[in-house]
Amino acid sequence: MKIELETIPVWDGLNSKSECFICDLMGEAQKHAVSFYLGNSVMNPETRVKVNEHGFCTKHWQMLSTANKAQGVALMSDTYLATTRSKAEGAINALLGAKNPRQAKKAVLSFSEVMEKREQGCLICTAMEERLKRYLYTTCYLWGEDPTFREALASGKGFCLHHFHLLLETASVALSSADYVAFVRSVTQTEVENLDRIAKDVSWMTQKYKSENMDKSWNGCEDAHKRGVDKMTGRHRVTDPVR
Ligand SMILES: [Zn+2]
Ligand SMILES: [Zn+2]
Repeated sequence: MKIELETIPVWDGLNSKSECFICDLMGEAQKHAVSFYLGNSVMNPETRVKVNEHGFCTKHWQMLSTANKAQGVALMSDTYLATTRSKAEGAINALLGAKNPRQAKKAVLSFSEVMEKREQGCLICTAMEERLKRYLYTTCYLWGEDPTFREALASGKGFCLHHFHLLLETASVALSSADYVAFVRSVTQTEVENLDRIAKDVSWMTQKYKSENMDKSWNGCEDAHKRGVDKMTGRHRVTDPVR
């Protein structure tokens, strides 16, 4: 599969010195995908068919419904509900017609199956996943091609643990075997150094709350708890991975 490179956003992301520039890029990707489904595209029959078929995950339906674009969301919900209803029709009839516990159990099971299927394939998650693949691949690719990028990545702040492990997985397909090993070692070295830095900051934050340290400097650790959580878990994760 040919992967489209995203050289400029990845370079800009790395230069931003963020705790995880993939998280930042995914935030942008999410914003972009949400505004797509809030814009004129919902009038497009092809888009509507896709929405009726796949819909969105809970998080993304919520983001859409709270975005102050009532009309577009009403239009999508109208036909999405109708599609859902027709997909579940058989199961609903079975629920209504159950005459004994065995039939009721069977009907509940088949209704659950319809619901589980319906909750897969969120269109916003899918769009984010596509972008994520390109950002991860481009990061590996640039590391293999450009020594300046390699140095900048080594002296950067690393990634959140979620994107770090996805990056390592991507490297095996994006780089040659020789580069793959060097890449894994180099980014892991950077990651470990940065995890230690965050751990130190969080630790100082806990100390700073002790009365004997009240007058001491925060040393830039006022937001260490947030950075620690972001580093451990990542932000703007794809909640409904296609893989
Ligand atoms: Zn991240
Ligand atoms: Zn989603």
